[in-house]
Amino acid sequence: MNMIVEVDEKSGFCFGVDLAVKKAEEEILKSGKVYCLGQIVHNDMEVKRLEDMGMITINHEQLKTLKDVTVLIRAHGEPPETYEIAEKNNIQIIDASCPIVLKFQKRVIKAHLEDDSQNQVVIYGEKNHPEVIGLSGQIGYQAIIIEKEEDLDQLDLNKPVKLFSQTTKPASSYKKIAASLSDKMLTLNENASLKVNNTTCGQVSGRDQNLIEFSKNHNVVIFVGGKKSSNAKTLYELCKGVNDRTYFISEIEDLKTEWFKQDDTVGVCGATSTPRWLMDKAKEAIEKHIN
Ligand code: SF4
Repeated sequence: MNMIVEVDEKSGFCFGVDLAVKKAEEEILKSGKVYCLGQIVHNDMEVKRLEDMGMITINHEQLKTLKDVTVLIRAHGEPPETYEIAEKNNIQIIDASCPIVLKFQKRVIKAHLEDDSQNQVVIYGEKNHPEVIGLSGQIGYQAIIIEKEEDLDQLDLNKPVKLFSQTTKPASSYKKIAASLSDKMLTLNENASLKVNNTTCGQVSGRDQNLIEFSKNHNVVIFVGGKKSSNAKTLYELCKGVNDRTYFISEIEDLKTEWFKQDDTVGVCGATSTPRWLMDKAKEAIEKHIN
């Protein structure tokens, strides 16, 4: 085969994840190991690379049993009780919460406090997503989490609503949810109070258009992403929507010869959780073993 393979320059870690990975690497180089609370990034290959260096991934139950160690908080952020446990157990925290998420947490607290008890703080996102848990935890888990349009039924449309979105949700679907909520509220009460806060992350939403163009410009698209990454799933579907010959791989072994034809142009791209080295490796594997 005679294919041209190109890696998308704009794909790869967002700056929040990049920062967290760098902090983990720094600590490992300094002291030989670091505990990380939850998967540092939704990409098994990158987690394995860091674990091979000395990172130890732990969950919240394990955190409670540790004492006198150093624990890194990943970009998604954490609820206040995590910091309380750390203090109680003499755990030193390396806080790699993304600065955008930290700002968002403060906005949630402010929204919760600024009105009377009628106030409803609503987050459009995934209930079990660590960022959403961290956000809702700031206000004692009183936020109402909306995963899909039907969940809007949980709201009292006569009471004020402050709407937020998980940072990695597509801006377009957030817009739809906000419009639908606004319609419902105004139908019921023309003085309804809805405040829509723009909290989708520009690092993610800015990639949509780029990936659409990138996918259109190649015959085959290889999307590299972690199976657990919601951002990877969303962006893969976006690419697939404009180029039917888009394939999702998590590791190099997932590549299949039958996906490629003579003289294809191949684009390799990924999510905000996809390390650049893995996309480069995919390019190399296609050039060496399939081309
Ligand atoms: S997607 Fe945005 S908010 Fe989330 S970690 Fe990355 S830079 Fe931060």
